[in-house]
Order: sequence, then structure tokens, then C-alpha cells
Amino acid sequence: MEYSQFRSLIVGSLEKNGLNDLSEQQYELFYAFGEYLLKVNQITNLTAIRNMPDVITKHFVDSLLVSEYIPQTARVLDLGCGAGFPSVPLAIARPDLTVVGLDSTAKKIAFVNEVAKQLGLSHLTAVAGRAEDPQMIELLGKFDAVTSRAVAALQILSELCLPYVRRGGLFLPLKAAKAEEELRDARHGIAFLGGSEPILHSCTLKTDISAEPRCIIEILKLQDTPKGYPRSYAAIFKKPLS
Ligand code: SAH
Repeated sequence: MEYSQFRSLIVGSLEKNGLNDLSEQQYELFYAFGEYLLKVNQITNLTAIRNMPDVITKHFVDSLLVSEYIPQTARVLDLGCGAGFPSVPLAIARPDLTVVGLDSTAKKIAFVNEVAKQLGLSHLTAVAGRAEDPQMIELLGKFDAVTSRAVAALQILSELCLPYVRRGGLFLPLKAAKAEEELRDARHGIAFLGGSEPILHSCTLKTDISAEPRCIIEILKLQDTPKGYPRSYAAIFKKPLS
């Protein structure tokens, strides 16, 4: 797709979804990222989305729905970032942030680090590893905000993510339609891990042909998480916090 067409699509989609306009340089970075994602995706499976209009709405704009909940200059962990969602769009749209992507799949992390290098995003880095890996212990409690999209149900996701949030920081999972249902199972675990009563921010991802329900959940870390969390993945799955 030509840049001019890309630009008019992303400008239109941001506007339709009530998001801020970006600078020319930021549109150029989104374009470079989109082109590179689709190119690499032809040889390595990074995303099921294979055309630019859908990349713009379902990856870029969808990722940016969380931006308004992230405080200025925050250090953000994107847990299970995959090919960089929401981490890369946040790094492009919010140069004030410091963004760390974490994913267990090394090739996705290599891709995100290559994107950061090619686009000159020095405030974005990506780390290969599992959230519940004991080697990650030095990052626990170190982030002002933790985002996560399409990684696990909230009951499990909370145990993976909340330990990484510092006291006073935010856990901001990006969810689709079933947020309320997931919250029912997750509520006690969230409190146990030090999280506040969750606030649900329901919104809609609007495209030219659809309006899909989305929900950003906002959880404030009130207390430090007890030691020993997250547990091993087997333990989390066998006996999720309830
Ligand atoms: N957030 C991206 C990718 C979602 S796919 C997006 O919205 O497009 C889920 C990703 O989570 C996968 O890339 C998988 O490798 C990663 N993942 C799942 N469990 C994980 C864990 N425990 N620790 C780190 N990464 C994990």
C-alpha cells in the first residue's frame, strides 16, 4: 500500500475511534512498522492479520485504546507482546514512555527488537522469557503500568501480570467482549495479589464495516504481591487463584 493511502486510513480510523491525531513522523513510523510486519509475516508466522487495512484497525488503533490510561513517562511492561501489540504502537505514539515487551517466543522478541532498531525507538526493548520464570524475579514490582492483550483469561493473567506492577502502579489488560465474565472468576485473586477493585472501561473498536466491543480494565496496585507469585505455570493452571 502507498503511504498516502495508509496515512488517510490511519487518520480516519483514529478519528473514528476518538483518538488523538499524530505527527507526520509518527504516521511514517506506523507505516514502516506495518510494511515490515506484513513482509516478515509472509515467511514467519507473526499474526493472522494479513492486510494493511486490518493491521491499522485491529492492531494499531486497537492497541492505542489503552494509551489514555497510561500516565505520562511511565515505565510499561507489555506481557505476552507477541509481534508488539500493544507495545510497538504505544512506543510510536507515546515517546514519553519506556516500554518493555516480554514474550516466551524468541522469534517474536527478535522481531520486536529489530523493529525498535529500524524505527529508532530507543525507548522500546523486548525480552524473551516466560512471565512466571524465576529468572524474571528482578523485574517484579518494577513497572508503573503492565499491559497485556490476548494472552490469557483474566484469572490467570492477573497472576502473571500483577506481580510486575509497583505499588501505586496500574495493571491494564486489554479485553474484548467477555471482560465482565472473566472478572467474576478473577476478583478474589486480584485482591490477594494486591490489586484494587477493577474498573471496567467499555468501548468500541469501530471500523468501516463493524463495531466490536472492547474493554480496558484498570486495576491499581494497592499492596505488594505476596512472595512466591507468579507460581509455576503448571501450578497456576492446576489451581488458579480464586
Ligand atoms: N499481545 C499480542 C500477542 C497475543 S498472542 C497481540 O495482542 O497480538 C499471546 C502471546 O503471549 C504469545 O506470543 C505467547 O508467546 C505469549 N505468552 C503466553 N503466555 C506467556 C507467558 N506466560 N509468558 C510470556 N509470554 C507468554
